[in-house]
Amino acid sequence: MNLPRPIRPVLGVLVAFLVALVAPVTAAATPDQVRVVTYDAGQAAEFRDAVDAGAQIWNDSVHNVRLEPATGGDADVVVLADDGWPRAEVVDLGRGRIWMGRQAVAEGHDVVRIAAHEFGHILGLPDNRTGECADLMSGASAGPDCDNAKPNPDEIAEVERNFADSVRITPRVFREDVLARG
Ligand SMILES: [Zn+2]
Repeated sequence: MNLPRPIRPVLGVLVAFLVALVAPVTAAATPDQVRVVTYDAGQAAEFRDAVDAGAQIWNDSVHNVRLEPATGGDADVVVLADDGWPRAEVVDLGRGRIWMGRQAVAEGHDVVRIAAHEFGHILGLPDNRTGECADLMSGASAGPDCDNAKPNPDEIAEVERNFADSVRITPRVFREDVLARG
């Protein structure tokens, strides 16, 4: 450019400022890339708040999927309560049923961790019985004293990839009692 010398540094600063302004916007996912998974906790009895809390933890952790309470119609995920061990029936990525089993709660397991763990299955994560409380998908193997309900960075990255790639999930049921005793 053929500009007078004093103007060039000013232009440089201006360009740097504009780049800084635009960069964060282009890095964020656009709204139509975010998959919304609806859940119905109307039959989750005393676990409704824990289910909402578990969903919120995932919403605070990932960008490619959002868990939202269903507002009429068929929900992608139905959450139930019963007296057995918690479990999740995954039909496909983001679709299935969760049972908030009272037996695990009676043995001291944290209800929000249970809810977040079962949502983890719905979001495409398998069990990973490490015994580590820092791992959400270690489930009951971390013991009843573990109340960490947050996914670790690897678990977060896997869910982000699952929804970025819209992976197919083989339908199956994850039973937490097997993990507790195995
Ligand atoms: Zn599990």
